[in-house]
Amino acid sequence: MAMRRLVAGTGWKMNIGAAEATRYGSELALRLAQIDVSAVDIFVLPPFTSLVAASAALAATPVAIGGQNMHWEESGAWTGEISAPMLVEAGCRYVELAHSERLYHFAESYELVRRKVDSALRSGLTPIICLGETAQEKGEGRTDDVLLEQVLTSLAGQPDARVADVILAYEPRWAIGGAQAATPDYVAERHAILRNNLKAHRGQDAADRTRIIYGGSVTAENGPQLIAIDDVDGLFVGRAAWTPEGFARIVEIVAGAAQNKGTGQTA
Ligand code: PEP
Repeated sequence: MAMRRLVAGTGWKMNIGAAEATRYGSELALRLAQIDVSAVDIFVLPPFTSLVAASAALAATPVAIGGQNMHWEESGAWTGEISAPMLVEAGCRYVELAHSERLYHFAESYELVRRKVDSALRSGLTPIICLGETAQEKGEGRTDDVLLEQVLTSLAGQPDARVADVILAYEPRWAIGGAQAATPDYVAERHAILRNNLKAHRGQDAADRTRIIYGGSVTAENGPQLIAIDDVDGLFVGRAAWTPEGFARIVEIVAGAAQNKGTGQTA
């Protein structure tokens, strides 16, 4: 039985400004106080300008905050950018990297993601590295090769012992912001193959300890089936968690799964 702590997270994208973040955070804190969330790692990824407000509103809760992106250098002539130490100073414990919208709209590559992973780890942040195939790659039967390439490139240069310090987020690009999540069978197969590939390339310990979470059109309705899958270690949610009630329901689903999977015992 895997003993990986389960994860419940949401990324707000370019939504929820600072004033709204304060309201969201206070309401979420009240709702989570009603649930036993001790077995779940919970994160919220606000836009940069809402980080401080979200951090303050969630200070007395187990909810950690993180950035949605960052630069790979610590400082310098990079107008418009934010670095890992700046995220740490703003109260972040996590940073999301390689979200499909970053790859698609801003032409980010996994080579850049690799540098960001390195900088994030050096600053003590937990990188949440998004992986995912496009509809075309899926159609061409290349999905598992694409995912492996993304993982290996992102983690290149990191020792095997550091691999479990990241969270891998499998987010099929065709399922993000869509009408339907990938089917549980499809997700189960991808996660199992990813974990096997981790074992083959980075060793048994990395494969056993690294959390692989699923994102892409997760809802309170499909969430229970997805989180019940053996190799799914968490849910990463956009739209369905943009209200505190919505996110609290997702956290509750993951907390329930932690009971069923027996993953709540280890830190
Ligand atoms: C996302 O953008 O990472 C995401 C999972 O979005 P949604 O849940 O809205 O599909």
